[in-house]
Amino acid sequence: MSISTHENDRIHEQDTEMVRIAVVGAGVVGLTSANLLQEAIPGASVTIIADRFGQDTVSDVAAGLYRPGLQFQGPNREITEKWLKDSYDYYKKILNSEDADEAGVKRAPGYMFSSNQPKIVKNFLMEPVVEEYRPCTQKELDQYKMKYGSYIVTILTECRRFLPYMTRKFQEQGGQIIQRYLNSLEELAGDYDIVCNCCGFGAKDLVGDNSVTPMRGQVFKVRAPWITHFYYVDYDTYILPGFDSITLGGTRQFDSYNTEVCKHDAASIWERCTNFLPSLQKAEVLKEAVGLRPYRGIVRVEKELMKFDNGKTLKVVHNYGHGGYGVMAAPGTSIYAVSLVKEMLGQQSKL
Ligand SMILES: Cc1cc2nc3c(=O)[nH]c(=O)nc-3n(C[C@H](O)[C@H](O)[C@H](O)COP(=O)(O)OP(=O)(O)OC[C@H]3O[C@@H](n4cnc5c(N)ncnc54)[C@H](O)[C@@H]3O)c2cc1C
Repeated sequence: MSISTHENDRIHEQDTEMVRIAVVGAGVVGLTSANLLQEAIPGASVTIIADRFGQDTVSDVAAGLYRPGLQFQGPNREITEKWLKDSYDYYKKILNSEDADEAGVKRAPGYMFSSNQPKIVKNFLMEPVVEEYRPCTQKELDQYKMKYGSYIVTILTECRRFLPYMTRKFQEQGGQIIQRYLNSLEELAGDYDIVCNCCGFGAKDLVGDNSVTPMRGQVFKVRAPWITHFYYVDYDTYILPGFDSITLGGTRQFDSYNTEVCKHDAASIWERCTNFLPSLQKAEVLKEAVGLRPYRGIVRVEKELMKFDNGKTLKVVHNYGHGGYGVMAAPGTSIYAVSLVKEMLGQQSKL
């Protein structure tokens, strides 16, 4: 990946007719939005601006399972469901293409179990969308010593592969990438016609959005190729096999800013996962990682005409605050964000 750090490289040929779009953020949301903008507005100059890339993003920590939590919310139920359906369809198209391996998109069969709560093995947002969602048989429940369960076939997108794949596609379409930390979106006013703001947890500082709260997550990435199914147990213990590793988790610590690995969390995750699947005792630990999920009550995908003290204005479409669901929901919210960009540019948009 070639990244420019020079301000002057930012905009190649200045063409007065060319729409200049900046996408802030190079996590799964920024890269997905940037690629979709290139497709939707042919001839536009699209530039990604971000201070962190690849393995330094929160997206890299995620397992990437398509499993919306019931608290995942857009502005209303209809839009939320559309985001979820659009996302699944987007990944399904990749899954059924020759790009699937390179993009890190795989079919994911597995189980959602609970030892005491029948309601948490049901998911009204997921059931109508995924390939299969059925109650577990008594034999399956007995096998895993669980009281309630659902068998599900969904999709998993591993960002360790997906981010490089999307970066390659973006650059092949002429997209530019700049490594830069922004103190304010005002720094982009005048240089771009519109900004798509996909800065994740960075929104707290970049646009002063205090409703964005860190939801700390700690995981192990292990190698255990004999495990082929995913498992969610009482929501807080999960075993999610990707391509190159299996993610073992987890924690969901609201308002915690601690990005260091905590040995107590590690011990708890390890004990819970190996109690559930004893064969994991033999797994090779590849890495321990922590990420701050960008939690926001309602994921923010909306237009804003920003006005600054110096009289400058900037058209912005926000696309952030996906919490623990940014990988699975990135395509849906980005398709929606692209339609808002087109609206702000006075172009026809079809939602
Ligand atoms: C342990 C864990 C497990 C998870 N599991 C799943 C899962 O199974 N499925 C799922 O869908 N999701 C999962 N998630 C959630 C998912 O990781 C996030 O929702 C998603 O990564 C958010 O993506 P993003 O692109 O918004 O943010 P990020 O990946 O954090 O990217 C933000 C980008 O914005 C840039 N940026 C921010 N501020 C500035 C600034 N001021 N100037 C310049 N650049 C800036 C950053 O440099 C970065 O490039 C998990 C998260 C964790 C922590």
